[in-house]
Amino acid sequence: MRIDIVTALPEIVKGPLDHSILRRARQKGLVDIRVHDLRDYAADRHRTVDDYPFGGGGGMVLKPEPIFACIEALKADAEAAGHPVDEVIYLTPDGAVFDQPTANALSLKHHLVLLAGHYKGVDQRVRDALVTRELSIGDYVLSGGELPALVVVDAIVRLIPGVLGDAASALSDSFQDGLLDAPVYTRPATFRGMRVPEVLRSGDHRRVAAWREAERLRKTRERRPDLLEEETARPAPPRRDLPPSS
Ligand code: SAM
Repeated sequence: MRIDIVTALPEIVKGPLDHSILRRARQKGLVDIRVHDLRDYAADRHRTVDDYPFGGGGGMVLKPEPIFACIEALKADAEAAGHPVDEVIYLTPDGAVFDQPTANALSLKHHLVLLAGHYKGVDQRVRDALVTRELSIGDYVLSGGELPALVVVDAIVRLIPGVLGDAASALSDSFQDGLLDAPVYTRPATFRGMRVPEVLRSGDHRRVAAWREAERLRKTRERRPDLLEEETARPAPPRRDLPPSS
């Protein structure tokens, strides 16, 4: 998979790409992530990428020319190499809210371009002519699209086969089948008087699976009942083993 991130502030993006899962995925050659500095595509010697908004008002707007130049160059290179760009995604608070089904769908694509905005955002003509999808990472406003782009990249890349050591782990994560994940424990079995639920140490895989399913349902009911609206056909959960009181 190839992902291009287009930004006026490339330094914000680069650090996280060099750590943990993203770094390993890149080293293994499972994803090729490239960061492009919009200023390299500016036409003037001051490398200007923003300008005042027509109609007045506060804040600057990212100019169309450098964005068109950058994204059109990426598309032309991709066409020439035989792996055309699948989607040009603009990160924006007024886009569709990014969720796990969207991450799953995007992880199947071959080539994505992510555009990070800044200031008041990008000139609308960029959105009209170049962007194929607009994504928000939640109902709040950040200063730039770099962190949202990283959020989207991380969520997608961990789903690419071979990236996670244990693929089954991603399948049981929250949202993957509409429920939240079950609680997890590791050693020691007793810590400051708090004991790991006995069932998890029983070695009985069927009981463990039943406990986890019941916990997922309990937690989802408590925290995200909205997720259960489409899950009403599920059978009632088995009674769970109560963790001993500490
Ligand atoms: N004027 C825009 C609005 O109200 O919709 C907000 C612009 S914001 C200050 C600057 C940039 O940050 C945006 O162009 C976008 O790329 C990014 N951004 C901010 N919040 C975001 C969010 N919740 N999701 C995705 N991108 C976001």
